[in-house]
Amino acid sequence: MKPITFTDLGLDPNILKAIADVGYEHPTEIQGKAIPSILMMKDVIGIAQTGTGKTGAFTLPMIEVLQGGVPKGRMPRGLVLTPTRELAAQVADNIELYAKYLNLSHALIVGGVQMADQVKKLERGVDILIATPGRLMDLQERGNVLLRDIKFLVIDEADRMLDMGFIPDIEKIIGHLPPLRQNLLFSATMPKPIQKLAEKLMDNPKTIEVAQRSSTSKNVTQKLIMVPAKQKTQKLVHYISDLNVDTAFIFCNRKRDIDGYARALEKAGVNAGALHGDMSQNVRTETLGKFKDGKIKILVCSDVAARGIDISDVGHVFNMDLPMNAEDYVHRIGRTGRAGKSGEAYSFVSLPADEKYLDAIEKLIETKIDRIDGSKESKPKAEPKAKEKAKPQNQSKNNSNQNSKPFKQKNHHPDDEADIPSPVGFGDELPGFMAIGK
Ligand code: AMP
Repeated sequence: MKPITFTDLGLDPNILKAIADVGYEHPTEIQGKAIPSILMMKDVIGIAQTGTGKTGAFTLPMIEVLQGGVPKGRMPRGLVLTPTRELAAQVADNIELYAKYLNLSHALIVGGVQMADQVKKLERGVDILIATPGRLMDLQERGNVLLRDIKFLVIDEADRMLDMGFIPDIEKIIGHLPPLRQNLLFSATMPKPIQKLAEKLMDNPKTIEVAQRSSTSKNVTQKLIMVPAKQKTQKLVHYISDLNVDTAFIFCNRKRDIDGYARALEKAGVNAGALHGDMSQNVRTETLGKFKDGKIKILVCSDVAARGIDISDVGHVFNMDLPMNAEDYVHRIGRTGRAGKSGEAYSFVSLPADEKYLDAIEKLIETKIDRIDGSKESKPKAEPKAKEKAKPQNQSKNNSNQNSKPFKQKNHHPDDEADIPSPVGFGDELPGFMAIGK
């Protein structure tokens, strides 16, 4: 059977031209299934994760439906709600790409940045708002935006909205919308409260589901590093060096640990940055930009901050903690091994505390992940990719770190636990995040 094309979906020639410029050859599964229904003005529930092309699945038909109108001051016609600022920015980037031959304007309405510019844009009139709920509510309450002309609503990553406690805000926002409008809701999973929200929101919706990523990519080699919690920082620094890590995501469960790990890596001479929700929007945008441009090689982050960030060329993922939600493990390690490239994922595991999370992950992915005894072996066996760059064979074990990335370390044998140097720069005073007691 011939694969469907974007032309088959009935999109406007100006949108097809923009898609051709981006270089997409065929619609992804969610795009192929959702776009025709959306163009028929149906309400749609899309059950799809990041990476499936879901953003195109709603932005492409949205710009088609909304094109041709005249923007009125403070009265947008399209509204996309996202849980995070980064995701909002990515949706805006998509709209910019796909609508480049259309006469459509959009504005990003997110917190953490000055309101004044957003207010000015709204006054002048924009067709589509891409917003996080908090800032939109603020502007709505101040009368800077009126939502009674919204014809097209998208709620993106609804399950994350739920996790982040945004559902009451969303219900309030919906209360300001006119009854006659088209609604789309995208979510990776459909927990009860999201089903209820969809029932309230939608009129006889069409549900479209594409394969969940409960399986991990064959391109990603997975390893568990079994290690007591308080040794994780030292081990991370060793592994980053010994595995010849170039670019990596380092995931933490707790925001408070993120800066600490990033600082420890920087002190060890590793080019690292931190990304989490407590940082100002300017710093988040700047850090993300630097990571995308390769100016920061290693990004220490939370699930939420990294959610939806679309960066294809990352060689390694480290989980400093196993995620409590097994599906997050699949999301996290799916940050590497993209676009046919190989990747490596290392997860620090401290037993017995992590046992239940590990069981859930192995059950979900139906794989028993290889274990490395981290307390004995500081230098994991490199995967083939790393091996190519590995150190000369004849190097003695004792100076095995001399070829590593420059990190300040005394002449200790890393295999000897008692001899592992204190994390550089902290002396005997271990900060809390390094001694996360379990
Ligand atoms: P998303 O699931 O929306 O986060 O999209 C994941 C990635 O897929 C993004 O890098 C998109 O640029 C890319 N993408 C979206 N649609 C297509 C398509 N039809 N063909 C190839 N890549 C696509």
